[in-house]
Amino acid sequence: MNINDINENWDFIIGLEIHVQLECNSKIFSNCEYEYDNAPNSQTCPTSLGLPGALPSVNQTAIESAILFGQAVNGNVSESFTFARKHYFYPDLPKGYQISQFDQPIISGGSIPIWWNDKEYRINLTRAHLEEDAGKSSHNNLSNTSNLDYNRSGAALIEIVTEPVLVHPEQAKIFMQRVKQIVNYIDISSAEMEKGKLRCDANISLSKKGSGNFGVKTEIKNINSFKNVQKAIESEIRRQNKILNNGDKIQQATLTWNNDKNTAEIMRVKENADDYRYFPDPDLPPVSLNKSFINNIKLSMPVLPFEYEKKWMKKYDLSLNECSILSSSKEIAEYFENVVNFKVSPKKVSSWVSTELFRLFNESNSDFNSKKVIAKDLKEIIELIEQNKITKNSGKNILRELFETGKGLKDVLKKGNFDSSKINIKNIIDNVLSIYQNEVLRYKNGEEKLIGFFIGQINRETKGKVNHELIISELKKKLQN
Ligand code: ADP
Ligand code: MG
Repeated sequence: MNINDINENWDFIIGLEIHVQLECNSKIFSNCEYEYDNAPNSQTCPTSLGLPGALPSVNQTAIESAILFGQAVNGNVSESFTFARKHYFYPDLPKGYQISQFDQPIISGGSIPIWWNDKEYRINLTRAHLEEDAGKSSHNNLSNTSNLDYNRSGAALIEIVTEPVLVHPEQAKIFMQRVKQIVNYIDISSAEMEKGKLRCDANISLSKKGSGNFGVKTEIKNINSFKNVQKAIESEIRRQNKILNNGDKIQQATLTWNNDKNTAEIMRVKENADDYRYFPDPDLPPVSLNKSFINNIKLSMPVLPFEYEKKWMKKYDLSLNECSILSSSKEIAEYFENVVNFKVSPKKVSSWVSTELFRLFNESNSDFNSKKVIAKDLKEIIELIEQNKITKNSGKNILRELFETGKGLKDVLKKGNFDSSKINIKNIIDNVLSIYQNEVLRYKNGEEKLIGFFIGQINRETKGKVNHELIISELKKKLQN
């Protein structure tokens, strides 16, 4: 059944628990290094293996990253907090507990604005806390074996928990993309979902339309892509809808996303809440931070994507769509700002960046890089077009040349003879008309559409360097003779 049809009768309530792996050289409670994709068990230490007697100590970069995130989302940063042991048994957790935070998270509250169907929604956060990652287990059904890799064990994470305020699977996907964008902007995580550096568990319940009551929720784990965040929640909404429409009750359960079958499958049904027997970790003293330490971190806060979007819509009159494209990465946003700061029309810059420049990066299959065409060069290209010194078409060619050769703008301009005032357009037109005398006759006898043919020939001669209007007016003059 269509999700939006179900939405006619049921309100969707979604809350996300998101794990973001922090980029901080060493693990969160030891100086053991961790990088994605190294040989299994090549990056371990007594602490990350949970060996008896090994003592944890907190990584300062992890704390700074969490504080920066807290400030970005306008949350409350605690001046003192503790770490707690969360107990459960699983082979990828050799100590038998995960060091996390319980009643005193480093960040509480805050919100993240997202756009959905052209409207802004502020998604409230419950908290964001620091914790260590577990190792990774993989199972081989053919050989009936399990492999354990403890490299990831002890890697630094922040877990971001939202309030149950997301109302549509698509919103959940957009929210996850926003989280990635923000942690990329503040440079605390590369957050690639495909590398497991950004993961989420989705909690879902349905409630009778407009009732305001919360239904029984289920939780889907193991979602591994933005697309699947939406798909997994949709699949669970369909399942719950069926049960509720039959008059049955939802059982509290944990499900796992099955990528091959494209559905969420029940892993275990819960009778009551998990009991993790949390208690303060005696090996880690409470952390106290002074105000100036917290405030100093704010100094490295960049302009955030939602701040850019607001500014551009208001000050530059750009559409939400344009703003969302330009704010997609910090590098693009800053580049756009740099060109506009040369007093160039934001609309024009937006269009050049998001069509012409993006095309070049897409074609070369590379990420945006502001060094490929420096802001000042793009500004000059746009100006030369405005002053009718070159055509838009030449502008595109120049941009491509800059992009592909890495040459300076002066060089490219000189070598390419793009300056249309130096091109003798009258001569070129005369030449073309003398070659195509037959066509000229036909034109004069009423076949007016041949004008397009002449323009095509002239453009070929000028390599598109002469302004279209100028060609037409000169051409018509000649044809009247
Ligand atoms: P638990 O104790 O099961 O972990 P929490 O209250 O800690 O539950 O919430 C975990 C996540 O579930 C949060 O993201 C929260 O927003 C979400 N959540 C809580 N209640 C509901 C509900 N009725 N429907 C959907 N999501 C919910
Ligand atoms: Mg939970």
